Amino acid sequence: RTVYVNGDYLPEDQATVSVFDRGFLMADGVYEVVSVLGGKLIDFDGHMVRLKRSLSELAITNPLSDDDYLAAHRELVARNDITDGLVYLQVTRGNPGDRDFAYPPADTVPTVVMFTQAKPGLADAPAARTGWKIVSVEDLRWGRRDIKTVQLLYPSMAKMEAKARGADDAWMVQDGAVTEGTSNNAYIVKGNTIITRQLSHDILHGITRAAVLRFAREAQMQVEERAFTIAEAQAADEAFVTSASAFVMPVISIDGTPVGAGEVGPVARRLREIYLEESLKTGT
Ligand code: PMP
Repeated sequence: RTVYVNGDYLPEDQATVSVFDRGFLMADGVYEVVSVLGGKLIDFDGHMVRLKRSLSELAITNPLSDDDYLAAHRELVARNDITDGLVYLQVTRGNPGDRDFAYPPADTVPTVVMFTQAKPGLADAPAARTGWKIVSVEDLRWGRRDIKTVQLLYPSMAKMEAKARGADDAWMVQDGAVTEGTSNNAYIVKGNTIITRQLSHDILHGITRAAVLRFAREAQMQVEERAFTIAEAQAADEAFVTSASAFVMPVISIDGTPVGAGEVGPVARRLREIYLEESLKTGT
């Protein structure tokens, strides 16, 4: 596999980053994941807007232009022959030459790393036909989840707990209400209404979320952006999650309680179809 490090395209076993890189020592960096379907980048512009916001919130200098990022995405997709899969992009504050809590001078060069992951048949993931089982865990992350940092230890622990409990993923709960999934936004459906938590510092502002809410409104569904509890979700007609790599993924049970009929529901199925259809049309 060919990977990208600070302007160079290298075989993955020749790509290196300093042990003093702040991304490595302090999780001082941000990332984006763009999916690739039929060789096209999905929602690329949205991911770039969020990347720049994440960098700016952390006062990390954005080292590249949107055109540079796009060219590098395209180059990696081509070199690695990716039809379906994803491109991972990470920007860290770089290597100040030593370990120190204070940020290094602003002219420290950020480290940009990019790589691809091939996922043949990504759009037809079998899990989308059976749906995910979810368990709830307490949300123990920090208070700025709107910044897409590489600090992913707690979501990783929550994912392991979900697997240990026989589930596919966890929904995190804060003050009695669901914030989001370990790597996705969470939704419930009641009649013709889709309910998902409002944007704030408590959740990541999903790029897929924005697209799916737009498609839902265009399909004459009502959208309510508000918090909901696990009990409300268990009593809903349907539930689902969204992310750049899972698209729209139906949820069939929460903490062992079936949601609705306990199978993939029509709203989640339809939104997944619309999202994939539109993404293929508008991908770059
Ligand atoms: N919330 C969290 C915590 C995530 O990690 C992700 C995936 N990066 C999402 C939501 C979904 O965001 P997106 O649709 O932009 O992939």
